[in-house]
Amino acid sequence: MAYVMAAPCVADYSCIEICPVDCISPGPNDSDFDDAEQMYIDPERCIDCGACQQICPVSAICEAGGLPPKWRHYADVNAGFFLARSR
Ligand code: SF4
Repeated sequence: MAYVMAAPCVADYSCIEICPVDCISPGPNDSDFDDAEQMYIDPERCIDCGACQQICPVSAICEAGGLPPKWRHYADVNAGFFLARSR
């Protein structure tokens, strides 16, 4: 079960830098960065290490199974970003 980026994300980038498998996007050098409303975690690549959750300054990252009800849809939002990217 992957971690999920939810509503409070302020694109702080510390999570991108700490992620050991480079599964958080988009970063400032990505072509889709300007259009993105937040950053996203690729559920197919996340290894559930929890490093991003610990460093996030606004507590925007939760385990998919621990998302509060109001943020549960963000699991699909995160996966959908990478699905759209792959098309
Ligand atoms: Fe990357 Fe670990 Fe966060 Fe998954 S839990 S997005 S692998 S830092």
